Amino acid sequence: MKDLVGSAPACDADAFRHEAQAFIDWAANYLTQSETLPVLAAVQPGAVRAQLPTAAPLYSESLEQLIADLDRIIVPALTHWQSPNFYAYFPANHSVPSIMGELVSAVLGVQGMLWVTSPACTELETHLLDWLVDLCGLPARFKSTGTGGGVLQDSASSAVLCALLAARERASDGQANESGCTQQLVAYGSSHAHSSLDKAVMIAGLGRRNLRKIPVDHALAMDASALARQIDLDRAAGLTPAFVCATLGTTSTLAFDPLPAIGDLCRRAGLWLHVDAALAGSAAVCPEYQALLAGLEAADSYCFNPHKWLLTNFDCSCLFVADRRSLTDALSITPEYLRNAATDTGSVTDYRDWQIPLGRRFRALKLWFVIRRYGVAGLQAHIREHVALTQRFAALVDADPRFEIVAPVALNLVCFRYRGDNQRNQQLLEALNSSGALYLSHTLLGTQYVLRFCVGQPRTTSAHIMSAWATIARLASGLERAGSPAR
Ligand code: PLP
Repeated sequence: MKDLVGSAPACDADAFRHEAQAFIDWAANYLTQSETLPVLAAVQPGAVRAQLPTAAPLYSESLEQLIADLDRIIVPALTHWQSPNFYAYFPANHSVPSIMGELVSAVLGVQGMLWVTSPACTELETHLLDWLVDLCGLPARFKSTGTGGGVLQDSASSAVLCALLAARERASDGQANESGCTQQLVAYGSSHAHSSLDKAVMIAGLGRRNLRKIPVDHALAMDASALARQIDLDRAAGLTPAFVCATLGTTSTLAFDPLPAIGDLCRRAGLWLHVDAALAGSAAVCPEYQALLAGLEAADSYCFNPHKWLLTNFDCSCLFVADRRSLTDALSITPEYLRNAATDTGSVTDYRDWQIPLGRRFRALKLWFVIRRYGVAGLQAHIREHVALTQRFAALVDADPRFEIVAPVALNLVCFRYRGDNQRNQQLLEALNSSGALYLSHTLLGTQYVLRFCVGQPRTTSAHIMSAWATIARLASGLERAGSPAR
């Protein structure tokens, strides 16, 4: 038994070198073959668990067994988000520098909850987020050198929740944290805002019936005059309008809410304005797309996800606030065991006060590696390439009279449909995805079932776009011939 226990890897440099090499070889092979694998996992529910032992192993298993099971059990049950043929939902970029950043972060294994628990973890993050303010043309008030600052969250969902909690405390004069919320606070977003807003409203205790879904205009962007009317109605009813979430690049169609008008309203009415640019925000590394953020000066908080479209592994979501005190006032709590001299001076940032959890990992490393290894020019080329590929795909759809584009094509998303009923479009999507050649997702616009083609994988090329379109056109022809899609 002693021998068996002894075969578990030691936590030392030699064991690391040996095991890391094996996994790096495995990872390189995966990257080579992932393009040829069916993009969407085609397994039945329970298929993975059926292959796993019912109990954890008592004794150490070999590295070879582990790697064999990755290939045997895990890979066949994956949807390959890094495949160049992945066009569903949103991109979840990775890159070599980012993967290396993840590796180094895991090796260091630091907890950056307080400045003192790893000063580099905090200061690199603060500094990088200031870089991003300049790089993306964001308002200077989001910089740490003024009253604001940025923080890396795990997700845009956490970012909107933190912003809403700060807004709740501001609107209730800090009373909601103390005595519970006595006012009926109201939050607003368009009917196309991401569901993370609904979830934040639930968690923050506002109550879902106090979330107003404002109608959208013909471009599927929030109707600012409807927002103004709703705020007036709520005030007249004795409620307290407190929070607006505007979206720059909605999930369904990448529509941009009219930020200047919304910002104006929020300023005049004293509402917290949060701006969610989870996917589209990465495009602002290109000066030509910074106009899409016009009006951001009025925002109290802003979020975008490098883990979507800026070559950085999940999780990495940037949250900027104009007044960091409003965030830390809402989220700070200091038990004795966290007290330390650096915090007591008031001159350091403790990021635990800017987020929900206490513990935090060294996320900034991967973003730092990405920005330095690509350079600004490399990041811009990445975005521009995808916008150009999206335009190419849109032109192909446009040239085929059997299809129609149903929403303005912005940045890297084309929403289109086969000119037929919803069932036909659903059948087409199912046929496409079950072919394994590519993966698309859908949305509903009004009552119309619509296909979404989102370009954003670093390895997607013009040849992939042409091949994707050839598959779509071929399966649509099958629809016409057989009344159902060709396989
Ligand atoms: N906001 C928008 C506009 C999104 O498109 C998404 C994800 O698709 C989110 C928020 C949620 O992002 P996260 O997974 O980082 O919480």
